[in-house]
Parts: sequence; C-alpha cells; structure tokens
Amino acid sequence: MISVTKLLHNTAHSGDRIRYSGRDDRFPAVLVMNITRNCNLRCAHCYSSSGGGRFTDMSFEVWKKAIETAADMGVSNVLVSGGEPLVRKDAVELIRLMNDAGMKIGLSTNGTAITEQMARRLAGLVDYAGISIDGPRTVHDEFRGVDGAYEASLKGIANAMEAGIKVGLRFSITRLNAPYIGNIFELAMSFGIGRICFYHLAYAGRGGAEMDIDNRTRLEVTEKIFRLTEEDSDILTADNAVDGLHIYAMTGEKRVLDLLRKNGGNRSGERIADISPDGTVYPDQFTHAPIGRIEELRRIWEEPDALVSKLRDRKKLLECRDCRYLDACNGNLRGRALALTGNLWGKDPSCYLREIGEKYPDMLPGMQ
Ligand code: SF4
Repeated sequence: MISVTKLLHNTAHSGDRIRYSGRDDRFPAVLVMNITRNCNLRCAHCYSSSGGGRFTDMSFEVWKKAIETAADMGVSNVLVSGGEPLVRKDAVELIRLMNDAGMKIGLSTNGTAITEQMARRLAGLVDYAGISIDGPRTVHDEFRGVDGAYEASLKGIANAMEAGIKVGLRFSITRLNAPYIGNIFELAMSFGIGRICFYHLAYAGRGGAEMDIDNRTRLEVTEKIFRLTEEDSDILTADNAVDGLHIYAMTGEKRVLDLLRKNGGNRSGERIADISPDGTVYPDQFTHAPIGRIEELRRIWEEPDALVSKLRDRKKLLECRDCRYLDACNGNLRGRALALTGNLWGKDPSCYLREIGEKYPDMLPGMQ
C-alpha cells in the first residue's frame, strides 16, 4: 500500500510504522482472512467471484484454529474480508476472537449489513471499517449489481460512525468509474471521513483486465488523486507500487524515494498472505499461486517451500529485474502478471513507469 498523504506531505498516519519501518519480521505483517465467499451483492469487479449464499464456508473451528496459530506466530494485523464478511452468521464471534488475541482488525465490507445493531456489536472490536463506494449512486449500483446498494452502504457508513467505528472509503479503479475520483473525495468530506483507499484492479475473479484503465489514463487518474490529497487526510493507494514512483517524480523529493526503498515495494508472500474462503493460502488476495493450506500457516512461514522462497527473493527472477527502481517497487503485483501472461515473474501490465517518465523526463531520465 502506498500512503499518498505520507509521501506527499510527510505526515504520520496509522499503518506507516508497518509500511516504512524497514522491519523484516518472520511472519506476515498483514494477514487477509476471507471468512466467506457469500455476498449480498454481485459486484462487477469482485476478486473472489462472490455472490449469493450458495457457498459452504469453512467451519468456525477451522477459522478459530487459524486465528490462534496466527496470533501465536506474531501476526498482529488482520484484514477481515470475503465475499461480504458480515453475511457470515458468526462473523462477529470470529472478529471477537481476533480482538481477544490482540490483533488489530481492518474490516473490508460493502457496508450494507452494518445496521445500527451490527455497528454496536462491532464497535470496540474493529480498528477500522473500509467501506466500498465505487462512484455516484447510479454508477455504484450498476457496479454492485443491486439497485439501492449505494443507499444501503451510505446507511452502513452512518451507522458505523455513529457507533464510534473509524471508517475509511474504498474505491476500486476501473473503466466504469475512473471519471468519478472527485465524487469520492466529496462524499468522504460530506461524512467527515479522512481516509480513502484507491485500489488498482488486480485481474482476479470477475475483475478481469478488460475492466482496467490503460496506463495513460492511470497516470491521469492517480495524478488527480494526488492533487486532491490534503495534508490532514489519510489517502492510500493499493496494488500498484509504481504510484510511489509517480509521487517521487511529481515532487522531486529524494525523501520520497528513500521511504519507498525502506518499504521495499510489493511484499506479497513475504509480509502479506491471504487465506481464501476454501482454506487455500495465497501470497495475497489476487495472486492465485497457492502457497499452502490454512492448517499449515506456521509451516508456510517458518519452513518456506520453493515458491515462497522465490517470492521472498524474487528480484533476480523478474522480467523487469534491470529496472533501476526495483528496490522501491519489487516488480509490483505478481498476480496481474500471472493472470495476463501466465508467468508469475512476467511484467506487471499496470506498471506505468514509462508514462511517468514521459511526463517527468527530468525526474525519471531514460524511462520514456
Ligand atoms: S519495471 Fe518493474 S520494478 Fe520497475 S517500476 Fe515497473 S514493475 Fe516496478
């Protein structure tokens, strides 16, 4: 994740300690737990192809064991996701277990199930709720596949805030909604929400490459995000480490490049892991190269197999290994390269370094 606010304005925010500490602990800094594949919406870009209630989730006991193991390993940050995690009947009980284990919990939700009662149950358990809004009402509802989804999500935001839960907005950038970056900033402001996370499309599930913007548009869209980022906000982008290089080129500040190098770029399979709804463990939510099973979390980390070892030492394997910014990016998102080229070490199609170099030739010489 790129903290746009931190890189642009050098202000401190939650999560920066993990992002820019340069620490290299022997466990995932962030473990994503997709506790269900069921969902009450049917989003066009869903990375887990969720929808409806037809999937059989893993049992409470299996997840309980995984939470205990993760806590014992030292995992302190969990992202609870789905599907829509709150359609799972025992979701709050699972979240309570994580909280009891001392974990910091981010909840990734469409917000529609956050009733007043649900908000009261979650208050004090989750560190923040990231609620997805993908544009103005009509765009959002089309995107989410359900009329009224926008209103329901807004109600969820209000309920969560009323209960004292810290709320952030999440926006997935696609061809459908790229023109509406300004709207999401306005919406956040109308609620008094400082945190927005913009997700680049990762080519998983229903969110295939055909929904993505091209890299010239990506340059414009990210530039708009950066220009709208105020000093007192908490703006992030996810799944494209090249955004950091874009900020470096825009600002011309070496401090930015130093921070990016400290962060090390994409760390899927090193500092991040994902447990999918069926118990398969992946390097992240989008990189569909299995690294083990939920029952062997500790073994995956402490006795890494060939694939995990390669992910942790990927630089020499990458197609873009000669890039001069490799130590600040680490080859970007492997899942996108895998999805588009079939080669886990291939070039990430969303690397827009060339487009940045064309716009800022003095900052990134030789990149155009
Ligand atoms: S060429 Fe590779 S390492 Fe360089 S910025 Fe692009 S994805 Fe990152």
